[in-house]
Amino acid sequence: MQKSTIGPLFIAATIAIGAISCKQSPHSPNVLVIVVDTLRADRLDAVRNGVPTMPKLSRHALEATVFDSAIAQSSWTKPSMVSLFTSLYAETHGVLFGLSEQFDRDNSALVDALPAKMESMAAYFKGHGYATAGVQTNPHLQATFGFAQGFDRYEFLKSSSAQNVTDTALQVLPASPGPYFLYAHYIDPHGPYAPPNGYADIFGPAGELSASGKAALDDWENTYERIALHRVDPTRGGPPPEISQATRTELQRRYDGEVRYVDGEIVRLIDSVLARDPNTVIVFTADHGEEFWEHGELGHGRTLYQELIHVPLFIRFPDAKPARIETPVETIDVLPTLAARLGLPARAHWQGRDIAAPGLVARPAFSATGGSLRNFDLKLASVREGGFKMICSGVDGACRLYNIDTDPGESRDLFGEESATTKRLADELARQSRANQSNPYYSTPKSSAPLDEETRRELGAIGYIQ
Ligand SMILES: [Zn+2]
Repeated sequence: MQKSTIGPLFIAATIAIGAISCKQSPHSPNVLVIVVDTLRADRLDAVRNGVPTMPKLSRHALEATVFDSAIAQSSWTKPSMVSLFTSLYAETHGVLFGLSEQFDRDNSALVDALPAKMESMAAYFKGHGYATAGVQTNPHLQATFGFAQGFDRYEFLKSSSAQNVTDTALQVLPASPGPYFLYAHYIDPHGPYAPPNGYADIFGPAGELSASGKAALDDWENTYERIALHRVDPTRGGPPPEISQATRTELQRRYDGEVRYVDGEIVRLIDSVLARDPNTVIVFTADHGEEFWEHGELGHGRTLYQELIHVPLFIRFPDAKPARIETPVETIDVLPTLAARLGLPARAHWQGRDIAAPGLVARPAFSATGGSLRNFDLKLASVREGGFKMICSGVDGACRLYNIDTDPGESRDLFGEESATTKRLADELARQSRANQSNPYYSTPKSSAPLDEETRRELGAIGYIQ
């Protein structure tokens, strides 16, 4: 690794926020946005032991516009979801951490929240006459943290099963004569990986495990807590547990069991929604992926490699022909694309663009993470342009460069060998940072909300708080 200097930043003129408003006719298409937490892009068409991981959804994708190179704007839930909902990069919206600086100062647990002034996707559609409903399962995205903004109904089902999410989504489906916006967020593939009975076995039986491997899996929450605690503070809690290759394989088999289970429930939702009204736009994506030691870590949020920021994305428009688009796109593009296809006005502050328009031109794709906790002392930013991708640290200035066309596993750092490319990508990162800081929402006062004991326990159970 070598150092790179990111250029100076400046504040440019404020961009005016669009304030056009128009109401929809009762015949405008409905919008269904489905997010699966922690779903790697490669699982949509993956096969394990000869068995497909998402056979039903991959068939639906054949009728949609599939974006094969979609990049999430962060590698963990909160900043990524705010980017999807607001069409703003993480640096712009600033909703970054599970615990805020306040926690470090006086131990009061405050977390970053979505500011009420920062118009989210639901609020945008509600402002244009849509009835809105959401079903949420991730404790980071509760109403108390601002995520119910714009929803007529916002159901929070604590880390609930996909079956419950689908059932609830169909219950809250607005019945008004006008169009609706429905958002369903599934969390099953998120750790701990515990698919319903039989789903992991679809891929064949578990391999032979040692006694210690079996014990680690049987008490996975404790095992993962020790791994996560070591990341937060290596001096606490002793060394992380050793996870054998056989145990790693079994973990991924269980993860795929969760994926296979959620596949059926999502398609049950899609089929039910289309049966009621085929005039519905369907968006399917994920907030981030999951890493299984490809680059030395398990989980998500701490790196920006492809296994974390490459997410599945397809959009099914009622009247459009199926298409496959390999040009890299970003999840901040979803809201501008929906607006454009539905004939609604774009907001001037949106940083995404309409990616379903003919003649899509490639442009750099960005992602960033500070980890889920501020005390990780992590500040990573990545840019992909063409076949190259660079990841830089804002803490020590170190950068890595990969050719992801020839090295999709990002195993060979080319930083010292491609000086023209590294300079170009460093310039892109600096340019984008300047654009972020000149966006009107960059200066929106940050919002935070207290974290109650119950939520602390919920987040601890899925590996976020120690
Ligand atoms: Zn997530």
